[in-house]
Amino acid sequence: MIARTHSTSSAPARFKLLRREHLDQIEPLKRLPRSEIDAIRTVAHVLPFAVNSYVVDELIDWSRAPRDPIFQLTFPQREMLAPDDFERMFALVRDNAPEAQIRSAAREIQLSMNPHPAGQATLNVPTQAAAGGDGSTLVGIQHKYRETVLFFPSRGQTCLSYCTYCFRWPQFVGLDDMKFAARESAGLVEYLRAHKEVSNVLITGGDPLVMRTALLRRYLEPLLAADLEHVSTIRIGTKALAFWPQRFLTDPDADELLALFEQIVASGRHLAFMAHFSHPRELETDVAQAALARVIATGAVVRTQAPLIRRVNDDARIWQRMWSEQVRLGAVPYYTFVERDTGPRGYFEVPLERAWRIFREAYSGVSGLARSVRGPSMSATPGKVVIDGVSVIGSEQVFVLRFLQARRSEWVGRPFFARFDPRATWLDQLRPAFGREEFFFAEGMREIEAEHRWRANLKASSSPLTPQSLAS
Ligand SMILES: *Cc1c(COP(=O)(O)O)cnc(C)c1O
Ligand code: SF4
Repeated sequence: MIARTHSTSSAPARFKLLRREHLDQIEPLKRLPRSEIDAIRTVAHVLPFAVNSYVVDELIDWSRAPRDPIFQLTFPQREMLAPDDFERMFALVRDNAPEAQIRSAAREIQLSMNPHPAGQATLNVPTQAAAGGDGSTLVGIQHKYRETVLFFPSRGQTCLSYCTYCFRWPQFVGLDDMKFAARESAGLVEYLRAHKEVSNVLITGGDPLVMRTALLRRYLEPLLAADLEHVSTIRIGTKALAFWPQRFLTDPDADELLALFEQIVASGRHLAFMAHFSHPRELETDVAQAALARVIATGAVVRTQAPLIRRVNDDARIWQRMWSEQVRLGAVPYYTFVERDTGPRGYFEVPLERAWRIFREAYSGVSGLARSVRGPSMSATPGKVVIDGVSVIGSEQVFVLRFLQARRSEWVGRPFFARFDPRATWLDQLRPAFGREEFFFAEGMREIEAEHRWRANLKASSSPLTPQSLAS
């Protein structure tokens, strides 16, 4: 039995992605002044842009655009670029400059926007040396926290619409090539066989649910093998429930998709949906609620997460409504993140203190069942650091911080303190409190970085380097 999607039409909605070239076909956009549309077109040469018809027709409140939060979530805005960069791009686009010239200007601007925050691409990618091999890196795998391996299938590296704040923007504008992603899961299976400490595999992207079910099955089924019993949880990181709920209802292979979820659950594993919801409106449509119900009916648990973003959801009432609604619909609030230090962060970022106040106000207004959520949390190089609050200890005003996840599990759960700074927006801007030189994990991070350089060197040469010689 398939639940219905559209309230207005009986034919199933067909997925269509609208890009920069299609801006003129987006009817409701014509309400905006020409200059706004030109600005969107300009910025969309630099930052990713793609939106589908469901987001345009059902999620955006056009009477409130451009201030509408879902509009801000999906349509690039003038202020996302530095004024000089915007003027430069604008002039090139206006004057119909040659494509190559536009593209090289866009590249320069992209490269100035910190496309690769520390540690992302290098520190998390395991090598064969780690598995007793030759030191070459393993394609499509990141392993940062002991229990959980991230897997990037190559065909799941786009999305059903792009979020303007996404930290993975460099891959969507072609700044990162796709060679980091895996075309099949054989390498993953081999890695997992050698790593019995891994209990969770997180399939991520982009959005892995852009893949047809048959393809997704080719990646997932091998994980159900008998000798991978230690992989007790399969997670799918997705925004499909928000951006294209039809994926679970009326898409041609929706039923097969749900059958695949049931098969994973029947194998005795936990299937966890890490569902990205930015705003309560994404939960309010009939299709979104029907889709959520169908996914939950397979035995999957839907856990929810999103970053706290200026202009999209920087208001305690929004989070309170979102968490309450999620609990009502059977989902489990999981993480609230801090906007990462990349891309148009200046447009979206919220100071850590304000993020904590918003989080706390929302958190204090919901029932205990919604307080499964943790945040606001920074996914930084050493780990996930939550801001527990602002306090005064002795005579010093401090941030109280704690690792929710860490590169070394012994770092988790120990409170530590940073000097209070009302303007700080990321961990690297914080200084230790009480006159200390460095945070307690600094030494360990140096060791980890040295060890990584040593492993990378194994591949390049056979010189007798040791982690110790590189650390000095
Ligand atoms: C958040 C995250 C995970 C999962 O962490 P949990 O706290 O177990 O949800 C795994 N790997 C990376 C790199 C992450 O950022
Ligand atoms: S759906 Fe996820 S990966 Fe895709 S753009 Fe949004 S945040 Fe980024």
